[in-house]
Amino acid sequence: MPVYWNPWHGCRKISEGCRHCYVYRQDEQHALDSTQARKTAAFGLPVRRSRDGRFKIPAGERVYTCFTSDFLLEEADAWRPEVWAMMRLRHDLTFMFFTKRIERLRTVLPPDWGEGYENVIVGCTVENQEQAEQRLPVFLDAPIRHRVIVGAPLLGPLELAPYLSPAIEEVSVGGESGPEARTCDYDWVLSIRQQCVGADIPFRYHQTGARLRKDGRLYRIRRADQHAQARKAGIDYKITHRE
Ligand code: SF4
Repeated sequence: MPVYWNPWHGCRKISEGCRHCYVYRQDEQHALDSTQARKTAAFGLPVRRSRDGRFKIPAGERVYTCFTSDFLLEEADAWRPEVWAMMRLRHDLTFMFFTKRIERLRTVLPPDWGEGYENVIVGCTVENQEQAEQRLPVFLDAPIRHRVIVGAPLLGPLELAPYLSPAIEEVSVGGESGPEARTCDYDWVLSIRQQCVGADIPFRYHQTGARLRKDGRLYRIRRADQHAQARKAGIDYKITHRE
């Protein structure tokens, strides 16, 4: 079972991929203001211990971090040092966060970061070619030990070849979910896969999204089936493990 850790919740939209952000969708149902980022009750989760003194999250787990916000959100700058410290302390866990604010990374790193903590994977999210060209050069230049490119929600074709260096450990793509989801074209997915195969970079199709165009037909896919349908496509490349 993957572990999710959301030390803060809420975010500000910054680009086209944020338009139908699921955090906003969820908060709307509870009349919460998604723009007001706030620390959550789970803030200290990685260092919480059970009565017997052992950490509640056992060694070896992958911890998906900050999935109801952006890890590099400006409003979280005061809270992040404590989070870096927890990541450092729990070097027996692997933390993975995604961001649309990769240009902020250098300004918020802890003093001992060096070329990156060995146990932290950073995902740079790019939803279209414009964002790929803005964010990926910064991403490749940043001090990070483990990098993945996240093409989601995929809103158009992506030309990633200039960025597919061996420093990229995986490219993961997926369509948009939700009632207002924009259509994802399967040809875009296959093209990115082809680019990854050409560069010998692992590729993962992690979800179809709610609207998928394939072979000239438009498919509506239920939320519950979106991950399974992507897996069923059987087009992942060189992925050696799955959570
Ligand atoms: S950066 Fe992510 S969490 Fe923040 S508004 Fe955009 S999609 Fe939502």
